[in-house]
Amino acid sequence: MNKLFAANWKMHKTAAEARQTAADLVALVSGRLKPGREVLILPPFTALAPVAAGLGGAAGFLLGAQNFYPQQQGAFTGEVSPGMLLDAGARFALTGHSERRHVLGESDALVGEKTAFGLASGLCVILCVGEKEGERKAGELLAVLERQMRAGLQGVPKDIAPERLALAYEPVWAIGTGLVAGPKEILEAHAIVRRILVEIFGPSASAMRILYGGSVKPDNASEIIALDNVDGVLVGGASLKADEFSRIVLA
Ligand code: PEP
Repeated sequence: MNKLFAANWKMHKTAAEARQTAADLVALVSGRLKPGREVLILPPFTALAPVAAGLGGAAGFLLGAQNFYPQQQGAFTGEVSPGMLLDAGARFALTGHSERRHVLGESDALVGEKTAFGLASGLCVILCVGEKEGERKAGELLAVLERQMRAGLQGVPKDIAPERLALAYEPVWAIGTGLVAGPKEILEAHAIVRRILVEIFGPSASAMRILYGGSVKPDNASEIIALDNVDGVLVGGASLKADEFSRIVLA
């Protein structure tokens, strides 16, 4: 499976800025991408179409969304459905990002509903999991990952194609803080995630991608991406500038 370099632009960039950043990234990376790598851009909803235009169908680039609501249509003011995302050119979407869990109040159950619904609707889904600082200090890493994964994957068919489902391990204390989990911490958490995936999905889970996220930068990307069970990175702050993100993708 290709290593996935995902850019989470969160609530940043106008349509024009997003299109330009996507085009700049393609110019910096095209022809230089190592074999077995692909790049996923996750802009705000309003910039999906402009980013699709900026990418211009360049080889190795994919488009996705940061969120969706688990219904196809209806009276859900402010929400966007998986069908609308597919229509806008997105093929991937995140579920369970820590900001949605801890800022927007999404429960484990809702994250699970969204993951199953997104997959059933034809999206590829990246389910994000990770412990808060206090949970890590209290020795609850394993319990948090078990809880978030069991609930988050509850409605997913056991025979889901492995390329359609990825996990992202994102320790909450490392997101946007400049604190990176060390190799030992990443190896430990990713091994837990892999074990739980195999328990749920069987042998096909060895081909599912597990991304690391949390203050990934150009100077730490190559070390992280080389670790066992690390099949890509999910990058927030350092993905906003084409030059900085290109150095991660090319690391
Ligand atoms: C994220 O938003 O998923 C993330 C990992 O952010 P940052 O890279 O800024 O820590």
